[in-house]
Amino acid sequence: MHNPEAEGGAYFVCDFCSKSWSDERPMVEGHRGSLICSQCLSIAYTEVVHLRTGSAINPDEMCIMCRETERPGFLWRSPVKDDGLICTRCVKQSAGVLVKDPEYGWSKPSDPSAE
Ligand SMILES: [Zn+2]
Ligand SMILES: [Zn+2]
Repeated sequence: MHNPEAEGGAYFVCDFCSKSWSDERPMVEGHRGSLICSQCLSIAYTEVVHLRTGSAINPDEMCIMCRETERPGFLWRSPVKDDGLICTRCVKQSAGVLVKDPEYGWSKPSDPSAE
């Protein structure tokens, strides 16, 4: 989300952990200004892509990145925000965006079950 009262990095606030943008915490933007930071994305990626855990979506919920209510697969649920939900597709898409930008120096988390 955006915080109109703040300037610079603090203007951008992760919708999943409520922390603001910094060099160590780049973000990917979804629909309507929703934002997920690299650290939340790492956790989400490990859980829904590698471990295949996560929650099913309830009828009154939606992925805040794509605003869709019916997504196949798992959703990652923010541990601190009730409406912080991201679907598997958005996790993969956001990871693809972050990985492509060398300035961020982010890489997809490795598969913990493969070690
Ligand atoms: Zn975050
Ligand atoms: Zn989504």
